[in-house]
Amino acid sequence: MAVTRHTLKIFALLTGAAIAICACQPTEPRNPIVETGPQTLHQRILTLDTHVDIPLNYMTEVDPGFQTDAQVDLPKMLAGGLDAAFFIVYTPQTQYFVENPERTDYKTASIIAETRFRAIQKLLIEYPERTALCITAGEVREAVAAGKRAVLIGMENAFPLGPDLSKVDLWARRGVRYVGLTHFGHNQFGDSSNHKIQFGETESLHGGLSPLGRNLVRKLNDVGVMVDVSHAAKSTMMQATQLSRVPVIASHSGVMGVAKSPRNLDDEQLLAIKANGGVVQLVALGAYVKNLSPEQEAYKLTVREQMGVSDDLDLLRMDEDQKAIYTERLRPMYDLAPGASVSDFVDHIDYAVKVMGIDHVGIASDFDGGGGITGWEDASKTPAVTDELERRGYSESDITKIWGGNLLRVMEAVEAGRRK
Ligand SMILES: [Zn+2]
Repeated sequence: MAVTRHTLKIFALLTGAAIAICACQPTEPRNPIVETGPQTLHQRILTLDTHVDIPLNYMTEVDPGFQTDAQVDLPKMLAGGLDAAFFIVYTPQTQYFVENPERTDYKTASIIAETRFRAIQKLLIEYPERTALCITAGEVREAVAAGKRAVLIGMENAFPLGPDLSKVDLWARRGVRYVGLTHFGHNQFGDSSNHKIQFGETESLHGGLSPLGRNLVRKLNDVGVMVDVSHAAKSTMMQATQLSRVPVIASHSGVMGVAKSPRNLDDEQLLAIKANGGVVQLVALGAYVKNLSPEQEAYKLTVREQMGVSDDLDLLRMDEDQKAIYTERLRPMYDLAPGASVSDFVDHIDYAVKVMGIDHVGIASDFDGGGGITGWEDASKTPAVTDELERRGYSESDITKIWGGNLLRVMEAVEAGRRK
């Protein structure tokens, strides 16, 4: 095998060696498919999605080189003109024992993170002609110009980093370019937007970032990895944004101004990210895009009353059979109002642009992690989002910013802010 830039980078990935950055050798034209007419705006611009989840059997049973049942695979990305995506090393949060840190199961978390990371490595190794690992904004542009899918890596939930910061350098060398501080449930670094009552958690554990969390933000700045505040509590998010000496991102969040959810950001949060120079990537996950209608809420309440459910804790106490009955009884509720559509999703973009300005807004599908809305069900339908933005009067320059330009600017700023 000839030693190409790609094989060098894969070697670096496998060994954790520092990745050398050199000029890219384009191997394929920008658009390998024969064009019959002028390019559409969607085809002309670079499109980057900051949140694509992968299952644990990715690259073992699910092969994204072919058409799959997943919302994102390489054929769907090509068909939908989705040029670049962050593939996610996600780890669910298990109980964090603040009083007895040694009881916290970091080992399982680490195994899950390694499994997902190795799957992304395998994707890059198996499909070197169609994918390229990108660790800088420049590399994203080069890969896309060469007709490849730009593969970036994000870590959702910093939990697997463990009880100190000793693993951060390794993950940065491996190519991770953003780290989400928390997921559902508090962890060693900070409070989550959604505490886990099944673990006995109350809304706040640390009052925002823990001392270790503050050091994590500084460390991520130092190694050139973006701090991601999606899933963090407002306190955590505001403190991290204040502390970070470079712009931060919310990799996949909605806005409270359109749909109420603890996962969404209010205006104060949006303005804090604007002031910090960061970007909010609006998420296309139905429950965060559109609230239940009053009729749906009433229906849900009736089902809960019938089943003796007075709060969320009662739901968590249900056994599997009861949960199945509850889910079944709730099913007709979804027919009472249409689900979230591309138009509902673009309402979030509109709102964020109104509050923050065009330079601080982007897009995240959350595909294969709960994302997907009517009209943008999978990566092959990506032009629907661009069409809606055009229909609402956004210019090509605006849409280019929203579809990745803003995120790449933040990536450049974070790269530049790295301690050499
Ligand atoms: Zn998420």
